[in-house]
Amino acid sequence: MSTDILLFGGTGDLALRKLYPAFYYLKLNGVLPADIKIVGVARRANTQEGFLATVKEWMIQHTGSLYDDEVFNEFGKCLTFAQGDSTEAEELRRISDEHFRADGQLIVYFSVPPSIFGGICTALEEGGLIKPNTRVVVEKPLGNDCASFMAINEEMRRVFNENQVYRIDHYLGKESVQNLLALRFANDIFQPIWNGRYIDHIQITVSESVGCGNRRDFYEETGAIRDMVQNHLLQVLCLTCIEPPASLDAESVRTEKLKILKCLRPITTENVAELTVRGQYAAGEVDGEQVPGYNEEGDGTPGMAETYVAIKAEVESFRWSGTPIYLRTGKRLNARHAEIVITFKQNRARLFADQASDKCANQLVINLQPDEGIKIHMKNKQAGLDERMPLENRFMDLSFSDNARAKKHDAYTRLLYDVIRGDQTLFVSEREIEAAWKWVDAIRAGWAERDQKPCQYTAGSTGPSDADEFMAADGRSWNNF
Ligand code: NAP
Repeated sequence: MSTDILLFGGTGDLALRKLYPAFYYLKLNGVLPADIKIVGVARRANTQEGFLATVKEWMIQHTGSLYDDEVFNEFGKCLTFAQGDSTEAEELRRISDEHFRADGQLIVYFSVPPSIFGGICTALEEGGLIKPNTRVVVEKPLGNDCASFMAINEEMRRVFNENQVYRIDHYLGKESVQNLLALRFANDIFQPIWNGRYIDHIQITVSESVGCGNRRDFYEETGAIRDMVQNHLLQVLCLTCIEPPASLDAESVRTEKLKILKCLRPITTENVAELTVRGQYAAGEVDGEQVPGYNEEGDGTPGMAETYVAIKAEVESFRWSGTPIYLRTGKRLNARHAEIVITFKQNRARLFADQASDKCANQLVINLQPDEGIKIHMKNKQAGLDERMPLENRFMDLSFSDNARAKKHDAYTRLLYDVIRGDQTLFVSEREIEAAWKWVDAIRAGWAERDQKPCQYTAGSTGPSDADEFMAADGRSWNNF
């Protein structure tokens, strides 16, 4: 069956920076269906030549050494610009008649603000574009809280079944995040020890060095907990903690992830101050450059949103009950870095008890970005004649950089390929999003009720000192880089 893609927002930032390059990578890898048609739609007029020139310009910028003029020219043949309003049924009918094949598989990508999703769904329905096999792709922000997500979702579910909706969380397209399933379930050595009996705690960190800049208004409406925790960090937590799924199909994996979300210990007004830290960056220095504070980036009014959040989460399940899972994310930190750190318990009653400290526990560090890889921190005897047998920390390093060199795709490539293949495993179900929002909503309600405001941290630092004290209170420390 032929594949037709209707890309609403076809001249926008997401399409130019991520989506066309991802389709191009599919071409480069030889897996883009030969007969595919990709139609980028926007309201403002453009010519086919102007459109292709813009796509090419962004492609060269964003694909770097993987840009190949010959491949791009070939790829360009399946790209078309169409002017139209995606909320007007007649215009969609016209575009469909002009470009698409009656018996084709239609995929509709909503790369437009969620406020018009409802209007688009109505127009697609009235325009006669929706068939039982039509697929629709959407991505964050899917609401600002559970109620607004449910409203957006209801508008979509009025015309699409759940098995037609592909909700993107691009973290799930990352090799290193998918590798969590392989690491956990293809390596039997981890089976007996992947639980609270052997694991002391888990840290999941997504640190960014960029600030909010001209997205400050958006951030004021969102904050780090809604922008990063509700989706990316909770998805990573799910894959780190899930029980073995019955198979790797979408239903099995998504069912197990949902169970984890439902087992998250509620954080409410009673315990929010003890279990969370909110921060906001002040002016400082990042990568040798002076940068303004969050408040100086706006119109001078003090910002209310947190640009940093740390949360002590817990999955109240047989496997994990009592094991802290520390989540942390922030902007304008010292580095762009994302990792999962699994710290194992130490047996203090053994031969080397006098050298035990939280710094020498065995750790499994899973790097998610920028470099993907896995390290196991081990203790080793220091070479030499010291009669006390002093230990040193060394690590076994499984870097994926060799794979990366051979890699000719990014997270979006994998996800778009799965949409074309009709595989929903790496997409988030409506029930997962609902559960994630409920957990986050309770935290935000707790902050509001307790009037828990963000504390300041210096741009370029590792975060607020309150977050260090928060860990120290548990006798632990952050794994900084
Ligand atoms: P953008 O740069 O503002 O682009 C919006 C695009 O939508 C433009 O092509 C615009 O063209 C088109 N558009 C708007 N209303 C339309 C309508 N009624 N009919 C047809 N086309 C319409 O926005 P963006 O950054 O690409 O973001 C798109 C969506 O993805 C947003 O919901 C955003 O939150 C989400 N998102 C973006 C990113 C990112 O990195 N940019 C990442 C994650 C999620 P015309 O104005 O000419 O119609």
